[in-house]
Amino acid sequence: MRPRKPDRLIRAFKATVRFCARHLPRVVGSEKVVQRLLRLKLAQCDEVKRGAADPRRALFHVGHRPSTICCDVSANGLSMNFIVGMMIHEVGHCIVPRRGESGADAAIFGGFGIVIEYRGPLALEWVSGAVVRKILG
Ligand SMILES: [Zn+2]
Ligand SMILES: [Zn+2]
Repeated sequence: MRPRKPDRLIRAFKATVRFCARHLPRVVGSEKVVQRLLRLKLAQCDEVKRGAADPRRALFHVGHRPSTICCDVSANGLSMNFIVGMMIHEVGHCIVPRRGESGADAAIFGGFGIVIEYRGPLALEWVSGAVVRKILG
């Protein structure tokens, strides 16, 4: 069976990248970061789960292909709170590459005042409904 089109992932990806590019604080060097965000693509990737410490939690990664957020299509079935939470966390990695997990979340809080929580049995990135509405419009 072919996986259905990951429509929710695509919608969240486009909205999150647009939101972050538009609202990133303008400081010295930020224009380069905005250009990097606007070049980002979303791609389904079979390697997201392969080799992950906990394959159940592995739904996205960055740094595998140039300018690409890789996703596992199974993430499409989660609520938008998790999808946008994970997406904006990955965008955080693209804003501050090589600063690790807490660095990505700190970039999102520092840049946009958005708190990423870790919820559910798998402790996945999660944002509130107010944040989802703000980003998806
Ligand atoms: Zn990948
Ligand atoms: Zn991460």
